[in-house]
Amino acid sequence: MVKGIGKPAVQKVQSEEINMELPPFRPPSEAFSYLIRVVRGCNWNKCAFCSMYKGLCFEQRKKEEILKDIDQIPIFFPRSKSAFLGDSNPLIHRDILEILKYLKSKRPELERITAYARIKTIANTPKEKLEALREAGLTRLHMGLESGDDEVLEMVRKGIKAEDAIKAGRKAREYFEITYYVITGLGGSERSEKHAKNTAKVINEAKPTFVRIRNLTITNPEMGRLVKPLSAEEQLEELKILLSEIRSETYFTCDHVSNYIFANGRPIFTGVHGKIPEEKDEMLEMIESTLETLIALKKSGARILTSNEMFRLGLITL
Ligand code: SF4
Repeated sequence: MVKGIGKPAVQKVQSEEINMELPPFRPPSEAFSYLIRVVRGCNWNKCAFCSMYKGLCFEQRKKEEILKDIDQIPIFFPRSKSAFLGDSNPLIHRDILEILKYLKSKRPELERITAYARIKTIANTPKEKLEALREAGLTRLHMGLESGDDEVLEMVRKGIKAEDAIKAGRKAREYFEITYYVITGLGGSERSEKHAKNTAKVINEAKPTFVRIRNLTITNPEMGRLVKPLSAEEQLEELKILLSEIRSETYFTCDHVSNYIFANGRPIFTGVHGKIPEEKDEMLEMIESTLETLIALKKSGARILTSNEMFRLGLITL
């Protein structure tokens, strides 16, 4: 079984004298970071494709508990130069500045402090507050764009419009590195091209430092009613359009198991990764050659699996 990259094994680490609460999810790029749970759950919690915090009631953790967790970092984590704040939108915590300052003072080795952040929250946050967050030590935001197409955003109840994502990106990048997450297949095959082109338009305007791709993997019945998942060929075609339309400088990466495509039990695609513009042509060539291989394999009767089939078969977890 390929384990989904995105969550630590346990939510609460405890022994008789000590215990620490961890965020249940973190981005793959935070695999070696100190994990600090600032809030529980998601204050929006309405996106149709997302099952991450569905059973959780959103709440801000008590500041005293968070500071205690920070004190215990050396007990639970190997020394690291990065820390990640969870769960979904920790910057709305009433004591976030104090928490950041405390973390920075206790762990001077930190060179990077990151957090999940809702695009709507950042779009509505005054610049003075963003500046104060940076001064307190925050360096990078992980933000879910998912799509730059307003129809798709509305269909999946993301609670933002493309213009919010452009505004948030332009504002946030003055203070932080920013990641925009994009979901291929979120518009299904009908809206595939529009979804890819409008998403690239937002990226070109918002200019995130990183673009990270996930392929839509349907984990709940509602999302299954909204769209039909893309075939492996459609997934690659959409990725190709998206990548070829991005013209702003960024690092583009498919750093998640949902991008994988298997044929006869073997991976034939594990994503593309590289700088735009320098490595864009190379990435496009790799997608094109995978498409050719895929078509040949299909003709020969190979069994092709995308993340959706792998998830249904229990071969991956997300
Ligand atoms: S805002 Fe993020 S965490 Fe919250 S429901 Fe949407 S995708 Fe999930």
